[in-house]
Amino acid sequence: MSPFPADFRSDTVTAPTPAMRRAMAEAVVGDDVLDGDPTVAELEARGAEWLGKERALFVPSGTMANQLALGVWTRPGDEVICEAHCHILSYESGALGALHGVQSRTLEGHRGALDPDEVRAAIRPDFVHCPDTALITVEQTHMSAGGRVVPEANLAALRAVADEAGLRIHMDGARLAHAAVASARPVTDFTRHVDSVSLCLSKALGAPVGSLIAGSEDFAERATFLRKRFGGWMRQSGVLAAAALLALDDREDEEHVGGLATLPAAHALAQQVAARLDGEPGLICPPEEVETNLVLCAVAAEEHPGGAPALADALGAHGVGVMALGPDTLRFVTHRDLDGTALDRLDAALTAILSPST
Ligand SMILES: *Cc1c(COP(=O)(O)O)cnc(C)c1O
Repeated sequence: MSPFPADFRSDTVTAPTPAMRRAMAEAVVGDDVLDGDPTVAELEARGAEWLGKERALFVPSGTMANQLALGVWTRPGDEVICEAHCHILSYESGALGALHGVQSRTLEGHRGALDPDEVRAAIRPDFVHCPDTALITVEQTHMSAGGRVVPEANLAALRAVADEAGLRIHMDGARLAHAAVASARPVTDFTRHVDSVSLCLSKALGAPVGSLIAGSEDFAERATFLRKRFGGWMRQSGVLAAAALLALDDREDEEHVGGLATLPAAHALAQQVAARLDGEPGLICPPEEVETNLVLCAVAAEEHPGGAPALADALGAHGVGVMALGPDTLRFVTHRDLDGTALDRLDAALTAILSPST
């Protein structure tokens, strides 16, 4: 159970639906390492097709999915070109250096997107003193940029740069489904420009556990080896894959609403959250900047001396869970387990905190 009646802290807080619980109980399973697990195999096949790649692997977390790709595409001493505020660098516990012995070359994104000309200029020359540039990573949607959709044209331009230099591209597609829904395009419009892609099943799509990592047959073969090395190859994991299959579904009936079908409502709620926040004294959060299910709200120190952390605490005391992303930014994430009552709670909490005398 979430500690907050209205939990905007993350889209990871969703609970499995009753239909997911039942599917988990009834899943046909096997030892995935020894013999293969049929439900995992079904999820991996469905996931690969959905992502437009030859094969996909089911892994415990998005971090592991990204780190398997980094392991496949790099050798110790290589350099990876990343957006400066990406998840891979900021929130994966230093795995890039610790697990792979590679270094990062960071570029500031433009609304989360890398500038293809800047990427081209950052590729190291073939020179004995320089590291080898091996990989470009992109994040879809870009979390620190506020859930921005990285445009398909940008990915196509990055692909051209990568091909000129013989580089690979990995997409951290934790929230790729949001990009597809927000731009009304199939996910394959984005994934066809990259060599590998990860997808979180346990964020807004609503599975309790798991991510996919997808790419070519050769990629998957090496990633399977590394999945074992990293301790991520599970046994009767069909119980988890059964729930994840429903997360990938777009079914909508009284028993279950598939994860994809819930995204438009989450995006609409994010708009409403931004509209409610923007214009309060010292809060800046233009709804037109919100593209998907992430809402970043700037908190001005003048009106809010305790900054975002104090405001997050105050909201929490009123039953509204939010995260402070640093001293001056509040992060609200919308998801399938929030509805209009969450907005009412936020409204009441803001009124109580910001205009206590009225
Ligand atoms: C959540 C997230 C991940 C993966 O996180 P895990 O907690 O390891 O599943 C990767 N990238 C982005 C952008 C994310 O938001």
